[in-house]
Amino acid sequence: MIPGPFTYHRPASLTEALAVLKTYGDEARPLAGGHSLIPMMKLRMASPEHLIDLGSIAELKGISQEGTDIVIGATVTQAELIKSDLLAAKLPIIRETAQQIADPQIRYKGTLGGNVANGDPGNDMPAVMQALGAQYVVQGSGGKRSIAAKDFYQGSYFTALQPDEILIAVRVPVPAAGHGYAYEKLKRKIGDYATAATAVILSVSGGKIATASIALTNVAPTPLIAEEAARLVIGTTLDAATLKKAADAAKAVADPATDGRGTADYRREMAGVITGRALAKAFARAKGV
Ligand SMILES: Cc1cc2nc3c(=O)[nH]c(=O)nc-3n(C[C@H](O)[C@H](O)[C@H](O)COP(=O)(O)OP(=O)(O)OC[C@H]3O[C@@H](n4cnc5c(N)ncnc54)[C@H](O)[C@@H]3O)c2cc1C
Repeated sequence: MIPGPFTYHRPASLTEALAVLKTYGDEARPLAGGHSLIPMMKLRMASPEHLIDLGSIAELKGISQEGTDIVIGATVTQAELIKSDLLAAKLPIIRETAQQIADPQIRYKGTLGGNVANGDPGNDMPAVMQALGAQYVVQGSGGKRSIAAKDFYQGSYFTALQPDEILIAVRVPVPAAGHGYAYEKLKRKIGDYATAATAVILSVSGGKIATASIALTNVAPTPLIAEEAARLVIGTTLDAATLKKAADAAKAVADPATDGRGTADYRREMAGVITGRALAKAFARAKGV
């Protein structure tokens, strides 16, 4: 439970951090809240020789609105996401999700950037970002680029982030006012990772679902967009038969492993149940009931 030796760097600017990352390449890792990386180092599942603490870099902090997007700095903590009035007004699913991550001590240190860059299928924010159509803004020695959350995850702990890149912000398009949202998470106890969880963003017009986006957490090596489930609910009033079809479609894309949270069959079943609950809650919210 003692990590291997490492050199600690605390750059004061993004330029300095990128220079350290370039110098040490694969031997260096950015450090944000440390609540995924440090446990992995203690378990010797990661042994970076250089840790680059992002905590003093002003460019990575803050939440703001830029045109039709909300831009959230990579080192904004999960506690700051919960406290943000701007997010509560424009992207309430982010607060709802952050409140279901771990416990308050972890949320005071854990960051949005660390949560989405980590690549752990158990992290809650990646599916939410996929449902919201978010873009991850990353910077490396080759310059800045944006990667859609839906294209970022390649496998368990494998992402599109290159070793010389730092995630600097998450850019989220603001959904229409009055949209429906829900992040429903089944877990064994407070502070646990999801047995299965589902993010839903939808809009309603004339009593029917006009748009829908659904993504699943921890039921496959990566977060999953449940495209067919979303397609099935559009144009409907979400009657019981539609809800069942959508839940079945979510189950069909889920590919969970058997683990301490249950068998693969149980967790797949729960992906359907939780998707049904998230859809019903999001639809009720959009209708104002
Ligand atoms: C007991 C416990 C329970 C937890 N429960 C949950 C849970 O229910 N749901 C959940 O989602 N999470 C959970 N977590 C994880 C927690 O939310 C972490 O804080 C989060 O996953 C990682 O954020 P961090 O800021 O701590 O990142 P770190 O641990 O510092 O970093 C994680 C990884 O991301 C990389 N990284 C970090 N920031 C950047 C960046 N800006 N650019 C590039 N790479 C970067 C690091 O190099 C590292 O590989 C739990 C953690 C613990 C210890």
